[in-house]
Amino acid sequence: MQKNLQIGQQIIDSIHNVIGVKDCSLHEPVFDGNEWHYMKECLDSTYVSSVGKFVGQFEQSLVDLTGAKYAIALVNGTAAIHLALILADVGEGDEVLAPTFTFVATANAISYLKATPHFVDNNEDTLGVDPKKLYEYLNKFTKQKDGKCINLKTNKIIKAIIPTHVFGHPCKIDEIVDIARKFNILVIEDAAESIGSYYKNKHTGTFGLMGALSFNGNKTITTGGGGAILTNNKEIAKKAKHLSTTAKLDHKWDYLHDEIGFNYRLPNINAALGCAQLEQLPKLLKSKRLLFKKYEDKISLIKGVSLFKEPNECKSNYWLQTLLLDFQNKNNRDEILSLTNENGLMTRPAWILMHRLKQFSNNPRMNLSCSESIADRLINIPSSSNLIGKI
Ligand SMILES: *Cc1c(COP(=O)(O)O)cnc(C)c1O
Repeated sequence: MQKNLQIGQQIIDSIHNVIGVKDCSLHEPVFDGNEWHYMKECLDSTYVSSVGKFVGQFEQSLVDLTGAKYAIALVNGTAAIHLALILADVGEGDEVLAPTFTFVATANAISYLKATPHFVDNNEDTLGVDPKKLYEYLNKFTKQKDGKCINLKTNKIIKAIIPTHVFGHPCKIDEIVDIARKFNILVIEDAAESIGSYYKNKHTGTFGLMGALSFNGNKTITTGGGGAILTNNKEIAKKAKHLSTTAKLDHKWDYLHDEIGFNYRLPNINAALGCAQLEQLPKLLKSKRLLFKKYEDKISLIKGVSLFKEPNECKSNYWLQTLLLDFQNKNNRDEILSLTNENGLMTRPAWILMHRLKQFSNNPRMNLSCSESIADRLINIPSSSNLIGKI
């Protein structure tokens, strides 16, 4: 008991030492660039909705930043994953591999299509999908038939995999893409948390057939609500834009829609916010790295806990700073959570793993022991870009 309090108190002291003694949330947006200016331009022009110059400008800025050939701005990250799955031809009865250790949006989007999330394990090196375990699992439990990957247990087609770059840390995406190619599985990267994160100098979300970004209020940059699909495939880009704008054909006055489409396009006013936020991204990333270094200096002095560091050959955006307790300290997690929150420091455990949620509890899965171990020992600590003052 005494020991728990000690480690909890040491964590609180370390955080206070870095950010000063103040109440703070886990992650909040920072608006100190052209946000007001561009939003006002929208209001003054009355172009707040589906027409306006900022949507195209935002997409171009995303292309410039990520190196993807195309970016399609959408209403949120969940819609981006949903639409990406449709464009990957995922449908009823298909299985889609997804980490159990991710935000629920990934598994939800698969379920919207009456496809089945099939859960795979993550590892502690990257917090992302474990390529070695994935390869061994696919080797043992699937077969190839007519160029398709068949789950031997369910006889269903495994169409795609959605690896997540968890908390902004790139997973081993090149290895995952190689394995997926070998087994005829398409890759859609869940890069919702990883804008500004690079794997071997290439932006996350640009390795798979498509990548999905999110600009929700709690992400590194925000458009209020927003998301995007990244792709290098011209046909897919064209179709993504078409389907996200009610599948309407260009015509002076006729409302001619050539298939069932969605109202998923990002409004101009959100894109205006996004343009201003993207201008600030380099500064935000710099301050998040600095916050990591300052936390690391302090946390490394505490026995029994470590601060998660970007994997080798990666540059992480450090979206959420992450503590991992040693195995012998895992029973202290809840006490550390209450102690920090009581002291005005917002901390959070990992997501409840997808296979532990009622609605996904009977889904197909591999052994998920590593994700289970990570989830039991993980605590996110205050991570906003403005915590260490203006830079
Ligand atoms: C935020 C997030 C999403 C969904 O994004 P929204 O914009 O909130 O719909 C999807 N996956 C992960 C891993 C996320 O963190």
